[in-house]
Amino acid sequence: MSYDVIVIGTGPGGYVCAIKAAQLGLKTAVIEKRATYGGTCLNIGCIPSKALLHASEVYAHTAHGIAELGVEVAAPKLNLAKMMAHKDAVVKSNVDGVQFLFKKNKIDAFQGTGKVVAAGKVSVTNDKGEVTTLETKNIVIATGSDVAGIPGVKVDIDEKVIVSSTGGIALSKVPEKMVVVGGGVIGLELGSVWSRLGAKVTVVEYLDNILGGMDGEVSKQFQRMLAKQGMEFHLGAKVTGVEKAGKGAKVTFEPVKGGDKTVLDADVVLVATGRKPYTEGLGLAEAGVVLDNRGRVEIDHHYRTNVAGIYAIGDVVKGPMLAHKAEDEGVALAEILAGQAGHVNYDVIPGVVYTQPEVASVGKTEEELKAAGTAYKAGKFPFTANGRARAMLATDGFVKVLADKDTDRVLGVHIIGYGAGELIHEAAVLMEFGGSSEDLGRTCHAHPTMSEAVKEAALATFFKPIHM
Ligand code: FAD
Repeated sequence: MSYDVIVIGTGPGGYVCAIKAAQLGLKTAVIEKRATYGGTCLNIGCIPSKALLHASEVYAHTAHGIAELGVEVAAPKLNLAKMMAHKDAVVKSNVDGVQFLFKKNKIDAFQGTGKVVAAGKVSVTNDKGEVTTLETKNIVIATGSDVAGIPGVKVDIDEKVIVSSTGGIALSKVPEKMVVVGGGVIGLELGSVWSRLGAKVTVVEYLDNILGGMDGEVSKQFQRMLAKQGMEFHLGAKVTGVEKAGKGAKVTFEPVKGGDKTVLDADVVLVATGRKPYTEGLGLAEAGVVLDNRGRVEIDHHYRTNVAGIYAIGDVVKGPMLAHKAEDEGVALAEILAGQAGHVNYDVIPGVVYTQPEVASVGKTEEELKAAGTAYKAGKFPFTANGRARAMLATDGFVKVLADKDTDRVLGVHIIGYGAGELIHEAAVLMEFGGSSEDLGRTCHAHPTMSEAVKEAALATFFKPIHM
């Protein structure tokens, strides 16, 4: 069998690349070793975690957030098995959707482990050990990422007591005490889920702040909000051991700067220290494909590896490990393979933390602008001064707009607050078109909306906000 494009891996990078390639008239096949399509994101990542974040938020909100609105209900009762069934159903409808789209776009889908035999040749080994060899003009590696451990610490992840995010979205009961190792997005999202459902959650983070890489001011306020919700934090703390103890586990850590050890007991330990590119069993070394010093497939600006006809996208290459970044790379690469000009603007990739409140950002942080010596101005607007936020009792947080001091071009927008993950996209569109804070501030925004806080922060950046 011979193809124009064979994509190995059907996560957001791979499946989107395959659909776009087929839409552009290329004869396309995909190979997936998991039983279902959609990769980490649809099966064990973005989608199931958001299903649980939403359900646990409804539970917590019903328990604590609606009496003030004059809605009185009896204390809600948790049915965890049903919540998990909801999550599983959402996953199923999404992965089935990908299968449907493959059929609709006449993409051949092969179940099994794909291996690059040489440029132009890929083998698929199915679970019975049968091998099929396929020929293709172009190979796309979209094999994603896998859970990374704790550097220098041997951890036995059994996905029951000591869990990665995969076990963390499938616990059969709410732990009394949960320790989360790693204060990044995944740790804080899943920590929030279990905290809302009643667990005492303690986060141990190596850096001095949570959400490393996010705007410093946002990160500090976010930590205060999560602490108010009951989460506890140990920052600047290096974990030196995670071991099973009795029915639970213990986590040992010490200050990064040096000092006494602390030991925490937990019913469940969630190891959320990041992810690493996944290239096992792909045959890349034999095919002569070069990896970089962090194990990622090395690519140029057109997703080309060093071997002609072999390309790579998504978590397995450099850049933020985000589903939408992988998707956009998939589209751009398919366009390039079809002879068009595919392109991703890496300066405008939004990042969202789907907690309550949400945190969202796009573009540069103040810390990055300072480090680069860029002259910038900042405008801020708090949701406490926004009418809609007051009406909804959602006044926590603020919007911050950062713009070039001379040109007024918007360089970064950071939002913490209800619905931040949706609000951020007006900033993303503005930045994609090279807009200024004045453009944003002079755009008519419907009243009363949370979006008016974005407009007011822009007004604050180029002159003065009205409602403050
Ligand atoms: P993946 O989705 O990892 O897919 C790779 C696929 O390749 C897998 O299905 C794998 O089985 C397959 N594969 C690997 N090797 C082979 C082989 N040799 N042969 C055949 N198949 C192979 N990102 C967001 O943007 N938003 C979120 O809200 C978000 N939440 C997340 C929550 C969690 C708990 C986790 C773990 C991740 C989350 N992410 C989120 C990150 C997101 O899941 C990844 O960035 C995204 O899945 C990367 O897509 P990908 O296509 O590169 O790879």
